Order: sequence, then C-alpha cells, then structure tokens
Amino acid sequence: MCQRFVMTSEHRPQKDWYSILESSPSDGLQDLKQKYQRLALMYHPDKQGPDVTVTEAEEHLHRFIEVDQAWKVLSNQETKRAYDLQLRASELNQSWPVDARVCLDDMTLDEDNEVYTYGCRCGGEFSIGREEAEEEEAIVCCDTCSLSIEVKRTT
Ligand SMILES: [Zn+2]
Repeated sequence: MCQRFVMTSEHRPQKDWYSILESSPSDGLQDLKQKYQRLALMYHPDKQGPDVTVTEAEEHLHRFIEVDQAWKVLSNQETKRAYDLQLRASELNQSWPVDARVCLDDMTLDEDNEVYTYGCRCGGEFSIGREEAEEEEAIVCCDTCSLSIEVKRTT
C-alpha cells in the first residue's frame, strides 16, 4: 500500500518547492529546469517592464528568490531526495496516524540483510535499514497495510 520510507521527525518541509516551481514531484529534472527558467525569467529583477509598480516589483523579487531556492533544492539529487522523503513523511503523517512507538531493541535484526524488522498486527511487516534506524528516529510503513510505527533509537 505505502512504500517504506524514513524521516527525521524534527525536519518538516517549510515550503512547497514543487508548487513554487509550478511543478509536481513526478516531474523529471528537465521539466523542473524548464519551469525554473521560465519563472526565473518572468520574475527576474532586470526583466521587469516599465509599468510594473513598486509593490509588484517587490512581489516579483520575492518570487524570484523563492524560485531560485526551489531550484537549488530540487536540482541537486541529494537535497531533492531528502526533500521528497520529508514531503512523503509529512503527507503520510497527516493521513496515516502512527500506530505505535517501537524501540530498536524490540525489533528483530536481520544481520544478513542489515535490516530491522517488526511484525505488524495485520500479519505484514515493518522493516528499516540498519544504518537508517541507528542514525535517527524514523517512521516506517507496514509493507501490507496503512499502519506506521515510530522507531526509537536504543539509548
Ligand atoms: Zn500492517
């Protein structure tokens, strides 16, 4: 139902970079680039016509800065990936409440595959990569139903 994902609970996306670029998460880099270039040109301080009011010019400058920030985040593979994960996590948090908090101690470590697993009450399974689990608190989705658990690090 939902894909496995990991998030850091304290990092929420503050801005919707995709809607700032008038795009969506399914857009490829080329699409994003085209949209960025079009918007950047439209709002660029040097490209404002003579009939643009001061208020409009300020708004456009603000948009230009946002568009530029959005492009910086989304054009870099690493920051885009991190942002996509945050986005998914916050969407899922809204629609799928966390079922339980589970300590890493209570999960089963599969040393061959380097993953921690935990049985869901639906009979499905929660699983999270060992490195991810040990690095930060994470929310993990069941591989079968819509439940998710919050995984706590062992202290
Ligand atoms: Zn389940």
